[in-house]
Amino acid sequence: MKVARILGIPFSIRGFHETVEELVDRIERGEQTHVVTANPEIVMIAQEHQEFRRIVEQAYVVPDGIGIVYAAKWLGLPIYERVTGIELLEALMQVADQRGWKVYLLGASPEVNRLAAERLAERYAGAKIVGHRDGYFSQDEEAAIVQEIAEHKPELLFAALGAPKQDLWMDRYAANLQVSLMMGVGGSFDVIAG
Ligand code: UDP
Repeated sequence: MKVARILGIPFSIRGFHETVEELVDRIERGEQTHVVTANPEIVMIAQEHQEFRRIVEQAYVVPDGIGIVYAAKWLGLPIYERVTGIELLEALMQVADQRGWKVYLLGASPEVNRLAAERLAERYAGAKIVGHRDGYFSQDEEAAIVQEIAEHKPELLFAALGAPKQDLWMDRYAANLQVSLMMGVGGSFDVIAG
């Protein structure tokens, strides 16, 4: 995969539509992909946080926000378009709607999580939201959450636990989650819940 590095972070150079196509292909092939939507703040966290840096090095990193596009321009790197987490979530939900994919929504407060699940189920009726739960749980509950997700074998897992927590969490359980595409979506459920 072609990448352009900004402060060492390997950004995909694909534009929005090509990114969606590539991710859909990977899902159809049953390949597991961890998508990290990296804005300048995430790039800075990765400078300091070794474990997160290792995850980012192996992930599919997209340029989330105009700050990354400007930085690329300044550095003469071929990143021309931003690919934001919320737009990617919506685009993947559209495909899920058409193809009947299974989706799990993890994270945010109980109220926001429930509302986000309702809104997405209304808007993408063909997608199967096989489960959802809030992002405030103890370590003791994690095995059961992983098992619940894995039982459904969802194509899509969106995790809204804030960065880098969401990425550390998904990476820790990646081998057991049985999901094709997992993506940290930060505050997106709050936006969708309205
Ligand atoms: N969140 C969560 N569990 C936690 C910490 C945060 O579910 O332990 C949720 C929080 O409720 C919010 C989301 O994570 O819905 C994103 O938080 P924030 O906006 O701080 O993350 P960022 O967008 O900066 O990554």
